[in-house]
Amino acid sequence: MSLEPPGSLGRPLRVAIVGAGPAGFYAAEALLRPKDLAVEVDLLERLPVPFGLLRAGVAPDHQQIKRASAAFERTAADPRLRFLGNLELGRELTVADLLELYDQVIVCTGSASDRRLGIPGEELGGSHPATAFVGWYNAHPDFAEERFDLSAPRAVVVGAGNVAIDVVRILVSEPERLGPTDIAGYALEALRASEVREVVLLVRRGPAEAAFDERELRAVAELADVEVIVRSPEFPTALDVYDHATQRKLRYLSELAAAPPKPGARRRVTVQFLASPVELHAGADGRVARVSVEENRLAVSENGTSRAVGTGARHDLEAGLVLRSIGYLGVPIAGLPFDGRAGIIPNRDGRVTDGAGGPVVPRVYVAGWIKRGPTGVIGTNKADAAATVAVMLEDAKQLGPEPERSRAAVDARLAERGVRVATLIDWRAIDELEREVGRDLGKVREKLSSIQEMMRHADRARGSSG
Ligand code: NAP
Repeated sequence: MSLEPPGSLGRPLRVAIVGAGPAGFYAAEALLRPKDLAVEVDLLERLPVPFGLLRAGVAPDHQQIKRASAAFERTAADPRLRFLGNLELGRELTVADLLELYDQVIVCTGSASDRRLGIPGEELGGSHPATAFVGWYNAHPDFAEERFDLSAPRAVVVGAGNVAIDVVRILVSEPERLGPTDIAGYALEALRASEVREVVLLVRRGPAEAAFDERELRAVAELADVEVIVRSPEFPTALDVYDHATQRKLRYLSELAAAPPKPGARRRVTVQFLASPVELHAGADGRVARVSVEENRLAVSENGTSRAVGTGARHDLEAGLVLRSIGYLGVPIAGLPFDGRAGIIPNRDGRVTDGAGGPVVPRVYVAGWIKRGPTGVIGTNKADAAATVAVMLEDAKQLGPEPERSRAAVDARLAERGVRVATLIDWRAIDELEREVGRDLGKVREKLSSIQEMMRHADRARGSSG
């Protein structure tokens, strides 16, 4: 047993980061920053490749956002950090294993599930969470086998966040526009054959409450052959009670509402405010064919926020595809507390607690969406992760003398369990192949969409290099 506290040269602070998405990488960056700290970081990831939502969430036509990965690549090249991919917490290693092998654990697993509408027919074929559609067009191995019926002329998207706008934009974009991106090849092919001509966006509250950014809707309306129609039974007239961003969005929405038809438009997006789906009905094939929609009005809740209340007025919309984009939800991790309502791991300033307001679970921390819920943009996770790392480093001063922990002990445990970890070398081999295949196709990259395929290629590349 070393008598030195973890963090000193002879006894580096050993940290496991679980999840190699943006929050995980920002946490790694923050841990590697202090000059006077000796640290060894293992970045554990379920897939053989990193970047989480940056790879499989951000829309393929938002390549400028994906450039954040360049900084993550630099972090990954730091010898104090190891990438351990193809490794799932709860499968190959448990939380108890991690607490034995590391001084501290920080969970950055994001929000892998989705919220439910809770209406009849939600489970019909043809009704999907938008998160599945996003994973599908981004070649995420969990969703590559999904099928989306694009054969009917109308699709309905429920929700008013930026994810809803992303899926609307992908549904109405000309395939040529998406071709050079890193969209999954099979998705591009399906979109080329798409018969969808209208996407109706059902927004339960009014124009002022919509969560999407004006800029994102503008990007849809500015597509040359797409017409955006805005319908709202109510439109706020006194704008000065709203913040600047909302005022801008309201002005833009009124502009769209008053715009004449767009000549030459081949596809249409109808943004229907104050409307909720109340039931999905099946057609003869048992799949969704019709959506019953109820009109809403705004009511003020006790806490002063506005909420949607059904007016009883209903109409039906024919649609062959329904995408529910009403928010992501975190999933529990065996061995750690979970707040099922909020979909997060309960925590105080990033220190995991046993229930909200409960005692701290020593040496376990959270950052990103699993800490605060699915809000903000990729960059929001930078300050969030840095704040958690600050409390970790504060707590580290109280640690030990702890049992000596080492990289070798981790390797031995994984070898014992017969785990084939994907290392930085493997990930780089996969990355290279994806770029190479992409180049031949005139795309940024063509992603591998199955874990087996990725590992097969990594094995081949290892074999040929030595
Ligand atoms: P979000 O911004 O939280 O939006 C969720 C939407 O779902 C809200 O409009 C919400 O309406 C609606 N909703 C919730 N429950 C509903 C129900 N039962 N019926 C109907 N509507 C319901 O979530 P998100 O779109 O999934 O995005 C997650 C985060 O990623 C956001 O911070 C977003 O800005 C970010 N993001 C950013 C970009 C970008 O910058 N380009 C792209 C994608 C995602 P209420 O407001 O009425 O609850």
